[in-house]
Amino acid sequence: MDIFWHDACLEHDAGTGLWELPGDWDWLDVPEPHPEGAARLRTFRHALRRGPVAPHLTWRTGRLATDDELARVHTADYLAALRKACEGPDRVALEVNTVVGPGTWDSVLAAAGTSLAALESVRSGRARTAYALVRPPGHHAQPAMADGYCLVNNAALVAETARREGLRVAVLDWDVHHGNGTQEIFAGTPDVLTVSLHMRHGAWGTNHPQTGAPDELGVDGRNINVELSLGAGDEAYLRALDEIALPALREFAPDLLVCASGFDGSAFDPNGRHNLTAAGYRAIGRRVADLGLPLVLTQEGGYLRGYAALCLHSLVEGLLRLPDPLLHDPLAYVPDDSRPTTADLAAVRAALAPHWHFARDTPPPADLAPGRPT
Ligand SMILES: [Zn+2]
Repeated sequence: MDIFWHDACLEHDAGTGLWELPGDWDWLDVPEPHPEGAARLRTFRHALRRGPVAPHLTWRTGRLATDDELARVHTADYLAALRKACEGPDRVALEVNTVVGPGTWDSVLAAAGTSLAALESVRSGRARTAYALVRPPGHHAQPAMADGYCLVNNAALVAETARREGLRVAVLDWDVHHGNGTQEIFAGTPDVLTVSLHMRHGAWGTNHPQTGAPDELGVDGRNINVELSLGAGDEAYLRALDEIALPALREFAPDLLVCASGFDGSAFDPNGRHNLTAAGYRAIGRRVADLGLPLVLTQEGGYLRGYAALCLHSLVEGLLRLPDPLLHDPLAYVPDDSRPTTADLAAVRAALAPHWHFARDTPPPADLAPGRPT
């Protein structure tokens, strides 16, 4: 399994805090560091280099993307404005929590290019699975808009590049937030399947309305949103995979699966309200590996960096199908409140039924049957 890295991903400075706008939080003595800092990516790298999974991994150096490559998923006007905002000397807030400045453009090019390098490794047959360990994250970035710490949509760029090379591509996003940028980029492209598992998180900032409901189906139902209630944990995510995402992926039968891999669904993440544990991410990795597809993964969220690094390590163990957990999880004690999941998944199946055989022709699992308590 290849891990792709580029030092320039560390250059982007997201700011001093979530709440750096003047006057908002000036009663804090010590400002909060912005959760999407370079320290989180360095911590992720350290976990994979020093953790017990290290002997299974091959480290590769990524590259910078070209302007033409970025233009596959973003408008020329947006890219020009983004580049200009990154020229400094002042840092510029593109929206309330998404700040750019000197160094950001190098990180943007490195994150996008390194994600493409991961794709190239898989396309060449050198690796079956390649993980682009990059920042800034990408899955909220829309064709003409930055959003939610995201500037260029790395996962969508990988998917679109593979699509142009003639591959049938699917995107699976388990970041705790809705992959709204990816949804929008492929909204008119029924030959790409997009699946997002996420919490019902509400609107944020000035330009991010609540999105990700089951009835946002795209063309021919090729956009699947599995919206899970607050508190959803390992069981909820695994049911969402087993009952919705994996049957859809098998029915769609892609040549390549792109995974937008976030760890902000963990029980301890400051930016999420879900309860996944390291064991849950390990099980997600195992299920994805069991699909038997060529895989490219891009790093998305995950903001309690120590626990997110453990979750990354555990996900990689699952992707490698290692038989026993290599690391002890010292924090896994939060109960998994999956009670709302049955209703959540029934709503998704009902929305998908006109478009997908699995949702209308296969009997629902026992606890989705009518009359059972939800
Ligand atoms: Zn997220």
